[in-house]
Amino acid sequence: MAKGGKQDRSPATRLVTSGRSGDFSDHVVNPPVWRASTHLYPDCEALREGVKSNADGQFFYGRRGAPTQWALCDALTELEPGAAGTVLYPSGVAAIVGSLLAVLRAGDVLLVTDNAYDPTRNTAMGLLKRFGVEHRFFDPLDHEAFEAAFCDRTKAIMLENPGSLTMELCDIPALARIAREKGAVSLMDNTWATSLGFHALEHGCDIAITALTKHVGGHSDLMMGAASAGERWYRRLRQTAQQLGHVVSPDDASLALRGLRTMGVRLERETATALELARWLDAREEIAHVLCPMLPGSPGHELWSRDFSGGCGLFSFVLKGRDDVARCRLIDALELFGIGYSWGGFESLALPFDVTPVRSKMSWPKEGWGLEDTCGIRLSIGLEDPADLIADLEQALAAMDEG
Ligand SMILES: *Cc1c(COP(=O)(O)O)cnc(C)c1O
Repeated sequence: MAKGGKQDRSPATRLVTSGRSGDFSDHVVNPPVWRASTHLYPDCEALREGVKSNADGQFFYGRRGAPTQWALCDALTELEPGAAGTVLYPSGVAAIVGSLLAVLRAGDVLLVTDNAYDPTRNTAMGLLKRFGVEHRFFDPLDHEAFEAAFCDRTKAIMLENPGSLTMELCDIPALARIAREKGAVSLMDNTWATSLGFHALEHGCDIAITALTKHVGGHSDLMMGAASAGERWYRRLRQTAQQLGHVVSPDDASLALRGLRTMGVRLERETATALELARWLDAREEIAHVLCPMLPGSPGHELWSRDFSGGCGLFSFVLKGRDDVARCRLIDALELFGIGYSWGGFESLALPFDVTPVRSKMSWPKEGWGLEDTCGIRLSIGLEDPADLIADLEQALAAMDEG
């Protein structure tokens, strides 16, 4: 419980109190939507003074934010132990690209985890390459190969945990320590756990990136991203974002703040339901592998217990000996799970995935699996009753084999 200092309070409490200092909220519970591009100054001297300070809380021009956005930045910074500040971006991808551009320059080499979110891979292979940054993918489970992948031009590493789609958990503190020893900056996409479930900066990363589109928005009606960092990288992130012209609207910032208030209870409920479904799927003979590090006994579960303080509703599974036609029959038969990209909303979603095209260092099927174990499905669990979701999966599994 609270011992006085703000950081001593539990995350559940900080989700309620953060970003609500009277400074930006105008003394109402939710900071109002404060729309503005232009500040009017009384005279030329005040105008010249105004440009000098580039900090949250100093309204100068809309591109540097305004009270609603600052309140959200404040809240996210308070929730990320070790952060000096947070920069907002118009999407999660913009946060990833904006952070990479803040750190890298032509001639640098970037190491990217092989199970990164696909658009992150594409940024390395496309945009960054065009601007003279080289990349190498690495298997995050192979520390020796990771260490060997560094050269004297390696400037940064891009981490993600668990891995996109295939859900491998890696040892972030160990990888970040190696990177630090080699003089490289560690960036981490922490969208899955958020700062509630994993403290990226405390675990050795320099920049913690979150797609707010997912759990923070929480209602599938918002696109936004954020990057939090200690003083040094926060300054650089802020400067680069302003140079790139990244802004978010006060309306969206207000929605993100609203989502943030309930994120803790949503994540708890989604985690509990996901675990129930993962256990149920694990016992089904149609399923070859459940990819859910939160599940006791699963690969990565020890790291999960060691490093994470919370999970979420996103996990995957692999069908046993079924082909894509059977997989589509299963997904099409689902009534409660929507078919669509994204995740972290209050509604459940299902997505077929094949990772061969988006991996270059990690094999699929994995070592020890059957050759036919390739047909993956990712589930994003929402707030529905778990019994209804299980009944839906049960009828869809039957439909899969009736076809
Ligand atoms: C969705 C997602 C993003 C990107 O977020 P957008 O807001 O859709 O651009 C980044 N990382 C991960 C892991 C994601 O799932």
